[in-house]
Amino acid sequence: MLIFDFDQTLYDTAGLVRAIKEVFASYGFDETVFDTTYKQARVTDESERALDYSFERHAEMLSRDGYDVDRVAMLRDLHACVSDAFVLPGVAEMLRNLLQKKEKLILLSAGNPNFQYQKVVASGLEMYFDTCIYIAGDKVLEVEKIIEKVDEVVYFINDKLQENIAVHQAFPQVRVITVYNAEKDTLVDVQNSGIPYVMNITDVINSKKND
Ligand SMILES: [Mg+2]
Repeated sequence: MLIFDFDQTLYDTAGLVRAIKEVFASYGFDETVFDTTYKQARVTDESERALDYSFERHAEMLSRDGYDVDRVAMLRDLHACVSDAFVLPGVAEMLRNLLQKKEKLILLSAGNPNFQYQKVVASGLEMYFDTCIYIAGDKVLEVEKIIEKVDEVVYFINDKLQENIAVHQAFPQVRVITVYNAEKDTLVDVQNSGIPYVMNITDVINSKKND
């Protein structure tokens, strides 16, 4: 069984964010306004562990900060950004290969469940997964629920290093693979974690073969 993360593991979410930023620019909002309101919309607590981004929340932050905006038009343009254009190269083929090998695939995505669902459906990847799980926060608890029901080898494939370390420490039997995310972590930190890693998501198949 393989448990996949979605954002920055299968999907170029940074690319989607750049597209969202362009919509903001087209409505006259500069990068500073974008960054401030994006963070407000994304994070719901100080620890930054609860993520709740949605376009509606982001537009709401603009209004809350006193900016005047054609909300309906802007939301329409923002929703139009979400598409399969941001699926990382080789991902669909990799998932197809895994299915041919009779692997069970689970998608585990943290964030605003409706927004995550919208992205996954638009990506066209939903059909490859046996189950898609959307949660607001802690993946460790969710991994526990998944693995207690199975007795096969479970892989956990994710870009977020801190989350991977937490899963690895909680469940040493789970084979965690870090997908290197240069925007979030240094390669040295990823290497020092002692957790196997790949530079590209499509290397997961090879990495899996070797163990
Ligand atoms: Mg991720």
